[in-house]
Amino acid sequence: MSELVFFCGTMDCGKSTLALQIEHNRSARGLVGMIFTRNDRAGEGKLSSRLGLVTDAVEVEDGADLYAHLVDHLSQGRRADYVIADEAQFLAPEQIDQLARVVDDLDLDVYAFGITTDFRSKLFPGSQRLVELADRVEVLQVEALCWCGARATHNARTVGGVMVVEGAQVVVGDVTGSADEIGYEVLCRRHHRRRMTAATARAAALSPDVLPVSPG
Ligand SMILES: [Zn+2]
Repeated sequence: MSELVFFCGTMDCGKSTLALQIEHNRSARGLVGMIFTRNDRAGEGKLSSRLGLVTDAVEVEDGADLYAHLVDHLSQGRRADYVIADEAQFLAPEQIDQLARVVDDLDLDVYAFGITTDFRSKLFPGSQRLVELADRVEVLQVEALCWCGARATHNARTVGGVMVVEGAQVVVGDVTGSADEIGYEVLCRRHHRRRMTAATARAAALSPDVLPVSPG
């Protein structure tokens, strides 16, 4: 029985690395995957991991019909034994419905990988639809850590190291970012709620005026 599986977590939780691992394991057994992605850090039509591995992928455009894409591909006599959809949080809810149809009508496994919530701790629409439709939701346990050492469960957007909570849901940033650049950082919930990033914490620790923050 084919299934739609949603592998989810924060940024830096190893999703793309696992996607590449699944791709590698199946290729090694002679299977051919259809790999979709959107806004990968390595550029259009790429699926890459932070560890430096990269493979070619189909860049999903606005309004693209993923089910029709598969049907078209197969009807040309080309192979697709399974589907990987990376950066699935960036897909539209309709596109997630199309992936569910790929599972049900074409009998292919679909492995979707995505960030669960955005920088305001709200579900991305694509991720919400995956939670609603997936046969299985796997929360990745490769633990990303907050600067304080606690398990990082939330994504923060930063501008010059300072956390912001306003702005468009999707802004592809540079995670190594310099001064005024938009960046992203994973935090524990406590520090996400307090908007305390690594840079903010460092500045506070260096300032003689700041009293230690009491817990709670
Ligand atoms: Zn923390």
